[in-house]
Amino acid sequence: MGGQLGGTATTGGVAFPGLFHAWERQVVAGIGWELVTLAVGLDTGELPDFSKRPARHWQHQVRINGPLYAALLEEAFLGAGGRLSYYELARAVRATASGFELELVGRESERRVACRQLVDCTGDANLVGLLGLTRHRDRVVQPATLMFELGGYDVAKLDAAKVERLYRDALREERLLPGDVANPRGRFVDFLRSRGSNAQHVLGADGSTSAGKTLANVAGRRSVLRLLRFVRSLPGCERAQVIRMQPETGIRETYRIAGEATVTVGDYTAGRVFDDAVCYAFYPVDLHDEHGVRPEPLREGVVPTVPFGALVPQGSRNLLVAGRCVSSDRLANSALRVQASCMAMGQAAGAAAALAARAGVTPRRVPLDELRSLLRTHGAVVPEAGGSRPTGTV
Ligand SMILES: Cc1cc2nc3c(=O)[nH]c(=O)nc-3n(C[C@H](O)[C@H](O)[C@H](O)COP(=O)(O)OP(=O)(O)OC[C@H]3O[C@@H](n4cnc5c(N)ncnc54)[C@H](O)[C@@H]3O)c2cc1C
Repeated sequence: MGGQLGGTATTGGVAFPGLFHAWERQVVAGIGWELVTLAVGLDTGELPDFSKRPARHWQHQVRINGPLYAALLEEAFLGAGGRLSYYELARAVRATASGFELELVGRESERRVACRQLVDCTGDANLVGLLGLTRHRDRVVQPATLMFELGGYDVAKLDAAKVERLYRDALREERLLPGDVANPRGRFVDFLRSRGSNAQHVLGADGSTSAGKTLANVAGRRSVLRLLRFVRSLPGCERAQVIRMQPETGIRETYRIAGEATVTVGDYTAGRVFDDAVCYAFYPVDLHDEHGVRPEPLREGVVPTVPFGALVPQGSRNLLVAGRCVSSDRLANSALRVQASCMAMGQAAGAAAALAARAGVTPRRVPLDELRSLLRTHGAVVPEAGGSRPTGTV
């Protein structure tokens, strides 16, 4: 649909994937981790110190160069024999006796493509929706965020009390609107200190439709313009600049599939090891709303898992999902949606689809041992049957 691989991590500018480590152990590895570390190696070479428990979870996120990461994803994908079709969109999907037929539309083209297996990684379970299978969506979803970065001022030289007064005036006079600052209870100097990075919300965004995504992008850019004009009006910030702004607003939440299994927040926070677990996930429960976000860290030692059944849409054949649309309740999803777990799910879904295509069966029929063995061959960390915790140290 877009012009590069990586989705929210690249086009959305959320270039700090996590979390690959939990309690001094690596719990997500494999192909995603390989590409992330490749991107770091070709850039700053700096990884967080995973042997130390972080004071705040985000200190273990890996900082990557987004555009470089997109180029490396593309190189790896093409090198593995993949064929890219940027700027094409599936308009319809039809189940056939041997798999699916997709109707793809591009600028100059309308074509039909047949496939035996389909993995829906659209973030919104778009193809699952086109097939008429059940998806869930809450009436109110988490806000979206346009990633940008401000610069050209020195917070240490500002009069914090005056900045705060002017900020409250701007809110009252609606020169700034709800969401422009994600944490409305915070001090504006803290927003300035963060340079605006991941500190703004687009409230009420619907990232699941073309019209909704258009509105979210426009609303995000309008918000940045309001913020820039306000910041430049502050004494000491007259030369403030937008250093960086992403082309798309990043979407946190739309649809989740109704899967054969569903991860509940109870499963997640208890670290339930599902019988058909294919990967670990690790992140605080992290639900954003109009008041900001208050992450709820997991209890010491807990490492949640993702069951294969949560990647299988109910009533489907030859179809899997991977990524934030995994079958889960809203709170569990607020944690499962982060990039390391999305990568692990993607690898699991891809491996299952490949094994299913080779054997001529639906992915649910692929023996779990075979799937886990293939995942391990490609470096993934796979939960052990019988409920054991991840082993090994970083
Ligand atoms: C502001 C923000 C901050 C976040 N912070 C963090 C963080 O600190 N750490 C972290 O790890 N995660 C974070 N996340 C969450 C994480 O980035 C996303 O949940 C995750 O990247 C989603 O991955 P995905 O592959 O499921 O979907 P996406 O990244 O959205 O990828 C979906 C891809 O599918 C394409 N697509 C969609 N529909 C179609 C179609 N019909 N046909 C063809 N292609 C299609 C899209 O163009 C896109 O490339 C954050 C998210 C946001 C928005």
